Amino acid sequence: MKQKIRGKPLVYLDNAATSQKPQIVLDTLLRYYTAQNSNVHRGVHFLSEQATKEYEDARNKVRRFINAAEEREIVFVRGTTEAINLVADSYGRQNVRAGDEVVISAMEHHSNIVPWQMLCQEKGAVLRVVPINDAGELLLEEYERLLTPKTRLVAMAHVSNALGSINPVRRIVELAHRQNIPVLIDGAQAVPHARVDVRDLNCDFYAFSGHKVFGPTGIGVLYGKATRLEAMPPYQGGGDMISSVTFEKTTYNKIPYKFEAGTPNIAGVIGLGSAIDYLTSIRLDAASAHENELLEYATNAISQISGIRLVGTAREKSAIVSFVVDGLHPHDIGTILDQEGIAVRTGHHCAQPVMDRFGVPATVRASLALYNTREDIDALVSGLRKVSEVFG
Ligand code: PLP
Repeated sequence: MKQKIRGKPLVYLDNAATSQKPQIVLDTLLRYYTAQNSNVHRGVHFLSEQATKEYEDARNKVRRFINAAEEREIVFVRGTTEAINLVADSYGRQNVRAGDEVVISAMEHHSNIVPWQMLCQEKGAVLRVVPINDAGELLLEEYERLLTPKTRLVAMAHVSNALGSINPVRRIVELAHRQNIPVLIDGAQAVPHARVDVRDLNCDFYAFSGHKVFGPTGIGVLYGKATRLEAMPPYQGGGDMISSVTFEKTTYNKIPYKFEAGTPNIAGVIGLGSAIDYLTSIRLDAASAHENELLEYATNAISQISGIRLVGTAREKSAIVSFVVDGLHPHDIGTILDQEGIAVRTGHHCAQPVMDRFGVPATVRASLALYNTREDIDALVSGLRKVSEVFG
C-alpha cells in the first residue's frame, strides 16, 4: 500500500472490488505454505493434523465473527458468487417449481441475479424484482406486495455495491418469515464494514467473500441454518463430501462437509481466519465509525464540485460514493485519476440493472475501507478538479 503509482503515492479507493491485505494475513499465508502445507481431513501425519486443526479453527473464528450458532453452519466456498450459486443449485432446484417465484431487488450485483435467473429458466419459475426509489432505497411496501404464496425464496443484498444503500435486512427477513419464505442475504459489501449477527438477522443463508474483508482471494463463506443445510442435496460430488461410496450407492457426509467436495482452499481458509483476527483486534465498530465519518466528509466534498451528480443517496449508506460528471464518460475520469495515483472503479460495477434504473451507462465509484484517511479524500477531490480543468 505504500508504493507509488505513476510517481504518485497510491490512493486506494477501490475497496468494494477488493480490499488490501494486512501483514498478519500475508504472514499466515507464508507460514502455512512454508511450514505447514498439507491436505486436510485425510492424513494421520503431523502436518495434516496441524493443517486440519487450523482449518477447523478458522471455521470457528468465522462462526464467532458472524455469531452463527454452530460451526457446522459455516460452509467454505470460493466467494459470495459460489455461495449464492450453491443455494440456487441445491436449495433452489429442490424447492422451486414451475410457476413459483423468487424475489430479488433492483439493486443486486449480477451474482445475485444470474443464478436465480438460470434457476427460474430451468424450472419455469418467475423472478420478481423489488423496485428502488431515486435515492437508491428499497421500496418496502412493494417488497411486501411481492411476497405471496408463490414465493419460494428471497435473495437480497445487505449493502448495494453500486449505490452503498444499506437494506433493512432484519425487517426483510421478518416479513418473509411471516409467510415461511426463506431468505438469503448477500453480505459481500456489509461484512467488511459493520458487525453482522446472523442470529439477530435470523436469515436462513448469508454469503460473503474473504477478499473483500482483508482476507485472500478464492475463499468465501456460506452461512446456512443447520436445519436448512441438512435438508439440502449436495452441490458438487467428490472427495470429503461422502461418508461411503460403492458403485451402487453413495451416502453423504454430514454438514458442512457435504458441501465441501474436493481439496478446499486451505491456505485461503486459514488466511481468512487471520483476517478475522485482524478485524477483531482493531474493533470493527471503531472502524465503522471512522468510515462513516469519512463517508460524510467525502460526500460533502465531492457533491460541491460543479457538474457532479451523486448516484445513490440513501439515508442509510455504507462507505461507497458513486457519481457521474456532466458530459464526461466515467472511464475518462478514471483514467485521469489513475495518472494521479488514485484507484477508483469505473463501469457498471456488475450491476447493470442499477445503471439502467438511474439512466447512466456507468458511474465512478470511490469505495472506502478502514485504512483510508481524509488525505485520501482530499487527493480524490483535487484529482476531480484536475478532471474539470482537462475537460474544461
Ligand atoms: N455481491 C456483491 C454485493 C458484491 O459487491 C460482489 C462483488 O463485488 C459480489 C456479490 C460477488 O463477490 P465475489 O466476486 O467475491 O464472489
